Amino acid sequence: MPRSKKPSSHKAPQVAIIGAGIAGIACARTLAQAGMHVTVFEKSRGCGGRMSTRRSPFGDFDHGAQYFTMRDPRFEAALATTAGTIKRWSANTVRVMDANGQVLATTGRPNDAHWVPVPGMNALVKAWATPLQDGSIPGCDVKLQTRVTQLEKVNGKWCLQVENGEQQQGFDHVVLAIPSAQAQTLLADSGLMPDWQSKIADVLVDPCWTLMLAYPQASQPGLSHLGPHWNVARSTHHRISWVARESSKPGRSAIERWTVQASPQWSQEHVDDAPDRVIAKLTKAFGEITGIRVTPSHAEVHRWLYAQTRRPLGQPFLHDATQQVSVCGDWCLGNRVENGFISGLELALAIAEA
Ligand SMILES: Cc1cc2nc3c(=O)[nH]c(=O)nc-3n(C[C@H](O)[C@H](O)[C@H](O)COP(=O)(O)OP(=O)(O)OC[C@H]3O[C@@H](n4cnc5c(N)ncnc54)[C@H](O)[C@@H]3O)c2cc1C
Repeated sequence: MPRSKKPSSHKAPQVAIIGAGIAGIACARTLAQAGMHVTVFEKSRGCGGRMSTRRSPFGDFDHGAQYFTMRDPRFEAALATTAGTIKRWSANTVRVMDANGQVLATTGRPNDAHWVPVPGMNALVKAWATPLQDGSIPGCDVKLQTRVTQLEKVNGKWCLQVENGEQQQGFDHVVLAIPSAQAQTLLADSGLMPDWQSKIADVLVDPCWTLMLAYPQASQPGLSHLGPHWNVARSTHHRISWVARESSKPGRSAIERWTVQASPQWSQEHVDDAPDRVIAKLTKAFGEITGIRVTPSHAEVHRWLYAQTRRPLGQPFLHDATQQVSVCGDWCLGNRVENGFISGLELALAIAEA
């Protein structure tokens, strides 16, 4: 991100950003540094989006993104501003297991470290939404629990309709930093037809059921953990693509906890199943892969309807200079946290330059 510029005057352009995931906050922070007045609208109770953290009586779970890698120097430079928030997770070698828990291969680039925010995945985006104490980087005005349902132009300025019936007015520019399908719906509900709208329809994003399991019984004297001696594995089991021991991440509670991601295909086939049925099926498959067959003290699932991009847009953002409306998000470039960051950053630089 560029070095900070103090807001120049009360005439600073007003930008509304919808979505407080990494793309929205990267965009917001960069625009604020460029002197614009930015308001972020987020439907959930906290910032983070798919980089979120679920609380449980036995410790937290990163039930969306599990970790991230840094391959672009701009991401690395931005992370350096919150260096204390990021820790390296030792799990950058990942086993590939078959349906019976046999190791088929070991993957992972030796120099591609896996990083996690501490104490939970949402800590990074939360930190970036907060101003630096020395004033060198301004924060963003984030309005939580505020779902935007429609956009319209009133006297040449954007007016946002939010779920509780309120209106938020007076924006020069609006940015949709939300999953592609939700962006399409919001544009259509607002009667907006930018030239590039059809390009969004080509993007494909898979759903994902995520199972969270806790085994406090493994913390009894003499038992350090249950099951396998590895912490992370990809799997070829038809139900499961990823399992990770949450408690192996730095800065987390030591109570044994596992996060299990269903495969994209299984998630799609079972997208409308009841949560109890999904818990039963995924817990059984988890036992087949890990050998852990004791009953967990805590089991819950979360359904991500738009989890990971299968076919991205192929460019970092879309921007309509006439209407002053733009879209960004991981789905523009790929399916990783870093893609969301680069998309939000590049859009902000383009808006600031314009
Ligand atoms: C199960 C799972 C596992 C993953 N694993 C990894 C991984 O290991 N490594 C990795 O790099 N990436 C992983 N990812 C992908 C990563 O999480 C995403 O690439 C990244 O978090 C996307 O950020 P984003 O800002 O583009 O979108 P999001 O994080 O989805 O942010 C969009 C935000 O917009 C809000 N919103 C939507 N509509 C509205 C509205 N109308 N009004 C107001 N707010 C709205 C949402 O609540 C959300 O907070 C995973 C994702 C999932 C789901």
